[in-house]
Amino acid sequence: MNLENPITYINGISVQRASLLQAELGIKTCNDLLNFFPFRYIDKTQFYTIKDLQSNSSEVQIVGKITSLKSVAQKRGSRLVATFQDTTGTMELVWFRGQKWLKDSLKINEPYVVYGKLNHYNGSFSMPHPEMELVSEYKKKLQTKMQPVYPSTEKLTNAGVSNKLMRNYIQNLLQQFYDAIQESLSTEILADFKLMNKRDAYLNVHFPKSQENLAKAQNRLKFEELFYIQLQLVRKKLINKNKIKGFVFENVGAIFNQFYAEKLPFNLTNAQKRVLKEVRKDVASGAHMNRLLQGDVGSGKTIVALLSMLLAIDNGFQATIMAPTEILANQHFTAVSELLAGMNINVAILTGSVKVKKRREIHANLEDGSLHILVGTHALLEDKVQFKNLGIAIIDEQHRFGVKQRAKLWTKNTLPPHILVMTATPIPRTLAMSVYGDLDISVIDELPPGRKQVKTVHRFDSNRLSIFKFMKDEIEKGRQVYIVYPLIEESEAMDYKDLMDGFESVSREFPTPKYQISIVHGKMKPADKDFEMQRFVNGETQIMVATTVIEVGVNVPNASVMIIESAERFGLSQLHQLRGRVGRGADQSYCILLSSYKLSTEGKTRLKTMVETTDGFKIAEVDLKLRGPGNIMGTQQSGVLNLKIADVVKDSKILVAARNTAISVLQEDPNLEKPENLVIRNTFAKVTRTSKIWSNIS
Ligand code: ADP
Ligand code: MG
Repeated sequence: MNLENPITYINGISVQRASLLQAELGIKTCNDLLNFFPFRYIDKTQFYTIKDLQSNSSEVQIVGKITSLKSVAQKRGSRLVATFQDTTGTMELVWFRGQKWLKDSLKINEPYVVYGKLNHYNGSFSMPHPEMELVSEYKKKLQTKMQPVYPSTEKLTNAGVSNKLMRNYIQNLLQQFYDAIQESLSTEILADFKLMNKRDAYLNVHFPKSQENLAKAQNRLKFEELFYIQLQLVRKKLINKNKIKGFVFENVGAIFNQFYAEKLPFNLTNAQKRVLKEVRKDVASGAHMNRLLQGDVGSGKTIVALLSMLLAIDNGFQATIMAPTEILANQHFTAVSELLAGMNINVAILTGSVKVKKRREIHANLEDGSLHILVGTHALLEDKVQFKNLGIAIIDEQHRFGVKQRAKLWTKNTLPPHILVMTATPIPRTLAMSVYGDLDISVIDELPPGRKQVKTVHRFDSNRLSIFKFMKDEIEKGRQVYIVYPLIEESEAMDYKDLMDGFESVSREFPTPKYQISIVHGKMKPADKDFEMQRFVNGETQIMVATTVIEVGVNVPNASVMIIESAERFGLSQLHQLRGRVGRGADQSYCILLSSYKLSTEGKTRLKTMVETTDGFKIAEVDLKLRGPGNIMGTQQSGVLNLKIADVVKDSKILVAARNTAISVLQEDPNLEKPENLVIRNTFAKVTRTSKIWSNIS
């Protein structure tokens, strides 16, 4: 018996049923079915009597007999009604579908166990579409106290594959293939974490004998699932370190030192220094750097990126920095050019709107090596863009780039360039372990000195007048203001109207020539956008009315007020990003979240969280709890969405244990060659054959 056999090997599963199960649930092999877990359990330890039924009882189990059966005509079609009786009273069982078959097969005056949801109407009870089993049959069964409920689909239900049938299939599977279930964790791990053995775990996850056994079974299966994912990630990381050679940047040379001594406009924070040290260690090691830099908005990632690029240039290599939007690329280009002014380093920018002639020039300078730093957007990834010797690639705002795109950078070279991925979306530790478990992670957890916390308030739309007054006072002090409107694709036309209405009312309230207003939105041409943006950056306009295009990275230190319209429609991380646009200078900054009175519970929680904290990691934790990992940026390519039983949010303790175990196993036995790890080695081979956690750059 082999669990890789198709499910037709299981008693009772016909070829037709098998193909239906495959089409609907993706279940092909016995192993697939074994790992098809219940999503809830019904506790059938209790039997009820009809007399004791309560109008608030939900799902109940009763023993009794059908005393009569009749069809009752109704508006459309008919329903089948059985009078059901136990020693204490009578009630009705009702069916709307499958009546003919039921009429033929239901037995009168024989004891049944019925189970189902209870309806209560006019003092009497009925049960629509109950699960029925003859007591004689019921007694023959593997008696479990709790019953599993499996996910299903409409097609399956219509084809008669009921939950009861699923249970039977799985029961048969367990009976026939019990011996084929092989332990897949080492004795040491089982002992260390007091884990249930694999056979018991499967038995108890499908047919738990008690709540306690169920918890143990789930714990064991979750641990195993997370352990093998972590083993893959940790192993990939070790291999990258050991096997993938990287360029060696031996020298901290003239350029780096000159910049540090003469051009650095401020002292680095301790966190920036620490991260820079981590990067320097990586790029000097001979191994390939694959590092994620997490740092809240405004924490000063750009300077770390620039200094890292200088390390490459000092060693005769080129560097590139990729940004997700044109505005942001422009801003990087301006910042980098200004910082490097007078230093004999050639910097260029390549975006979609760069003209052909200029483009050709850039291509040529890249190939002959005279261009040192290329800043750009996705345009960098075009095949025509060939570096002479790209030494390091910085990717800003990681979540906007897919893995495939990173892979493209890789192929531009014989050896992979060192990669530094920068993200301002803090990712909770546990999620980072699953999504970026194969990367090294650096964190800038300190803001540059002198920053005042952004004061955040939540106001309702009706407060708008007093907000206009507040804006005027701030502008009077020489500050600038953002007003941001939501832009959600489904209602783009309406959002656009909101934006324009808002722009109009702001224009009325803040008339020219005293006030100048910029407007930026997605429907504008890139050149117009940049023009408007630039006016705001230069301080020519005091107010920037915009959709979320300004979300990422824009740096205007003089802007001190961020007003977010319909704030309830934004996600937490987006709100946090937007708030990060202000508070970049020395002035006290403010974030005003405007909403209507109608708020969902989740919406309320989001706004409350924003008012209560400015800590990006705390906000990310709340976000993860609210939305689950599936909606967090960057998780799409990772395995965390395909988990069968574990949950990276709820099972974070198990995750940490699984990761630590994976690390210690691989540290002691990198190739899993020790006899005691044979079990892990074999399972690992199977797991890596059948699943790809995520196709990495390698
Ligand atoms: P982010 O991490 O969001 O990309 P930036 O790199 O844009 O942040 O930096 C935000 C602002 O903080 C910039 O104006 C930058 O010049 C400034 N800054 C960065 N590091 C420091 C520091 N150590 N001391 C003072 N100001 C700094
Ligand atoms: Mg930035």
